[in-house]
Amino acid sequence: MNPLPCCATAKPRHVRELGHLYQFDFDLFKCSQCERHWVHAWREDMGGWEKVEPEDALTMQTSDETALRPFMRKWAQGFN
Ligand SMILES: [Zn+2]
Repeated sequence: MNPLPCCATAKPRHVRELGHLYQFDFDLFKCSQCERHWVHAWREDMGGWEKVEPEDALTMQTSDETALRPFMRKWAQGFN
């Protein structure tokens, strides 16, 4: 896993699995140093950190599974 873009030496904390969409696996992480949220997107041998707005990170944490799916489909449209 690549170092976080915000704090290279900080350990990313896993917050929630966001599901598998457009052949990518998405997971929500939080930086243990500055508390910023990042989405990790991974597919086969390529993966990286994606910027996520605070309100979107909040939705990702508070939505139940049935609401999370359509939200992520929309959020991750650029990966399609
Ligand atoms: Zn940070």
